[in-house]
This record gives sequence, structure tokens and C-alpha cells, in this order.
Amino acid sequence: MSLAVDQTVARPGGLLRAGGDGTGPGASSLAIAGLAPLSTCDWPGRLAATCFLQGCPWRCGYCHNPGLIDPAVPGAIPWSAVRDFLVRRRGLLDGVVFSGGEPTRQPGLPDAVGQVRELGFGVGLHTAGAYPRRLAVVLPQLDWVGLDIKAPQTQYEAITGLAASGAKAYAALDLVLASGVAHEIRVTVDPTVHRGAEITALVADLRAAGAQAVVLQEARPLGARPDYAAALAGRRLRDLLPEPPADVVVRESDPA
Ligand code: SF4
Repeated sequence: MSLAVDQTVARPGGLLRAGGDGTGPGASSLAIAGLAPLSTCDWPGRLAATCFLQGCPWRCGYCHNPGLIDPAVPGAIPWSAVRDFLVRRRGLLDGVVFSGGEPTRQPGLPDAVGQVRELGFGVGLHTAGAYPRRLAVVLPQLDWVGLDIKAPQTQYEAITGLAASGAKAYAALDLVLASGVAHEIRVTVDPTVHRGAEITALVADLRAAGAQAVVLQEARPLGARPDYAAALAGRRLRDLLPEPPADVVVRESDPA
């Protein structure tokens, strides 16, 4: 999840819609940290704008957007500015990706997704599955999901710092696999926690469960917590998995 803030759209504006269907907070309640106006990689095969929502309940050492974790940080861009931007991009973009942080944390997400669809865009979501019940609400409106599965369930606490995180992520996995929504399951290979054989077994389990695409991502020191970057100590994905499973995409990162 790469964060790029286009300040040209971070301008004040009136709220275009009170928000929602009256059953919950509307899109205008969203704390939006940034908007990347054009991404070719956040939704594979699509040209998308990416909307980064503030706040995440987990504390992964390798998080490269740590500024997006604190839910108390106010948004930098009003939803009305995002919407104005999208109106100007109709016909030029395929879709919008909601990313974070953990975008399902914010109850205004379903309304925002609905508004984006009404404007004629496809909608993608990046999530780590921290709020499976909220994911279930928004899933029927999505065209694509990039779901992080960080580890076998028993290893989650070592990565996220929260004991209950594994059960939530795997509940989210069940929802995505049962939904029929196009998806990609992303596994960040963490040499401070994982062994190569564990990743190989996890990929096989995900494939057997019906995952359409499995991507191995490399944990990187850039932007990570200093203690995590020190623990990583230059270890690379290729050190753990010299021969990755044949049926995965491997996304290595610049070690700088
Ligand atoms: S779940 Fe994602 S956004 Fe949240 S701390 Fe972990 S890497 Fe960062």
C-alpha cells in the first residue's frame, strides 16, 4: 500500500451528500489521509485512484505506512474533494481503491463505495480483514479485493501484536472466498517470524481453499519501525524461499 497524497485535491469543499442511507455514518465522516490520483499497481490490470483511510487497530512491525495507524489522527482531505476529483476523472479511470490503514475500520466506507459506484467507477478494497462483519457489509458492492493473510492463524499475534487478529483475518478470508468477488490474497513474507516451509504450506492451504491468486510480498525496512528494520537485518524473501511455489506471484521490494 503505497501512500501518495495529491494535495491538489486536498481542498475544502461543501459536502455533496449528507451521507449514507440513514442507517449509519455517511462518506462525509471518513478520515481520509491521502489520495493517489493514478495507480497502475494498487488494482492489478486497472487504472485506479487510491483513497487512503486513516487508522488501523493492528501494529505490524513491517507496516510501511505507520502514519496511517493512529485512528485519532484527523483526515487531511474531505470526502467532497475526493468526490469532486472523481467527477472530473470519469472516463479516465477504471476504478477507485480504498486502502489504508484499515479501510473497513471506518463505518462511512459503505456509503463512500456506493457513491463511487454511482459515479460509474469500479471499486477495489485493500484490507487485512480486521473487521470481518464490516467487510461482509461492503463485499457485495466490491469488484475486487486485495486481502492480506499475514501468516498461519497461530502466528498472527507475533506480527500484529494482537492475539485476536488471526481469527478475524481468517473470518475475512472465508468471507472473500465465499463471495465470488475477484480477489488477490497477499502474504507478506516476514523473515522475523516465518520459516520458508510455513509459507509454502500457507500458499498450498490458500490454494486449496479456493484463492484465485496468491501473491508473496517482501517485508521491507523502508518506513518500518526501527526495531523491526533492525531485526530484519537485510534478510530477503529469496533467502527464505529460494524457490517460491510455482503458482504465486512474487513481489520483491527495493531493499533500500
Ligand atoms: S494491518 Fe496493514 S496498515 Fe495495519 S499495521 Fe499492519 S501493515 Fe500497517
